[in-house]
Amino acid sequence: MKYQSTRGIDQYSFKDILFKGLAKDGGLFIPVEWPKFDFKKYDNNVCYDELTLEILSLFVGNDISKSDLSSIVENSYRHAFTSQDYVTYQNINQSIIVELFNGPTLAFKDFAMQLLIPLFDHFLANENRKVNLLVATSGDTGSAAINAVSKSKHVNIFCLFPKNRISEFQRKQMSTVGKENITLCEIDGTFDDCQNIVKSILRDQNFCNSNSVAAVNSINWARIAIQSVYYFYSYLNNVHDYKSEVNFSVPTGNFGDIYAGYVAKKLGLPINKLIIATNENDILYRFMQDGRYEKKEVQRTTSPSMDIQIASNFERLIFDLYDSSFSVTKNKMTDFNEKGSFQVDEKILKKMQLSFDAHRVNQTEVGELTKEIYLNCDYLIDPHTAIGLAASKKCNDDGALNFILSTAHPVKFSEAVESYVGSQLDLLSNYRSLYTLKESFLSLGNDESKIKELIESKI
Ligand SMILES: *Cc1c(COP(=O)(O)O)cnc(C)c1O
Repeated sequence: MKYQSTRGIDQYSFKDILFKGLAKDGGLFIPVEWPKFDFKKYDNNVCYDELTLEILSLFVGNDISKSDLSSIVENSYRHAFTSQDYVTYQNINQSIIVELFNGPTLAFKDFAMQLLIPLFDHFLANENRKVNLLVATSGDTGSAAINAVSKSKHVNIFCLFPKNRISEFQRKQMSTVGKENITLCEIDGTFDDCQNIVKSILRDQNFCNSNSVAAVNSINWARIAIQSVYYFYSYLNNVHDYKSEVNFSVPTGNFGDIYAGYVAKKLGLPINKLIIATNENDILYRFMQDGRYEKKEVQRTTSPSMDIQIASNFERLIFDLYDSSFSVTKNKMTDFNEKGSFQVDEKILKKMQLSFDAHRVNQTEVGELTKEIYLNCDYLIDPHTAIGLAASKKCNDDGALNFILSTAHPVKFSEAVESYVGSQLDLLSNYRSLYTLKESFLSLGNDESKIKELIESKI
């Protein structure tokens, strides 16, 4: 299995790209050739671990033996998830809500992190070395990564989150773990500021090499590959003819999760539309109207994990839409970095619209829908999931079954959810202990050099 960058011709192995978020040329990694996956050999009782092993092995190639990969997969979710069913479903208004929040930190990010860190450990243990992970988080990636790293002997983590822009529950999930190998920093700025610091440090090859710095943001290819599994799984569990096309509505920020759906489609899953569900931070929605990708100020919403104006993984789709042209991708991304926008022509936009649809959902709609679903269906959704559900309703119905990815448990955003539903739900009652633990994190302004000094000082 070979990988290339979206901006250049060098080739890499799975192991090369596992530890690197970005290629040397600033591009993102992507397979040189897409494998195909014969999902029809499974039935609706397929075991999640088995499916994960099969899909992951397509992307790992020969870099890990099948038996090692198998034991990594088998020792992961089974111990970390609260129920034997990692993915659960709810039927709401003829749509299927795919609950991806049964992991230890109650958001879909656990699927990737609980496997990614053991994959790291596998290589690091063989080579007897350690690695320093640098993570920017809008709340959920950080908690998932910290939980996974807290069990690792070979990984240290430095996690940056935007001050006052994540929920209290999310912050506490990260700041109360209290392990030597975990360093948490709040940054004076937005998630995009955190991500820019990470990207900029990753571009400093010398620094990264001498300090063994790696990344686990959603630009990490292995995360994308791992996330494509639940698209297949929910299809197999719910569609029995193996050919009906379905829609997936995905609450979208960094374009990682929905891009994993695109990967599933590339591997052969019959997906009609991938519905990009955005909040007021609607760069992708606007792009789908006129082909102009233009960043605006980040707005604060009740779905903070989507308060992002730079959808990093979008570069991978651009590369694909331009038939794997390194030079066009590079030009577009340079325009974006220098001028804050780029434009694609009608033909490219049309091509994207074949596989994607996009809808923007505002906070009033989120509130109304959350309340309606609670009152009519006695079911509670978190604000991100509400955006996914509202977007799927706005999608012109073409008869395809709609899946909505439920990306987080409502307790993670209990303040917003309780204010929408208008009654005291006491969502936190099962999580009181989290509120008794001591928090610890650093405050480091918005300064790349301070983060570098911190990493150097800790190792
Ligand atoms: C991360 C996250 C998203 C957005 O996913 P992307 O891969 O960044 O598009 C949506 N909802 C929740 C709850 C998240 O944690």
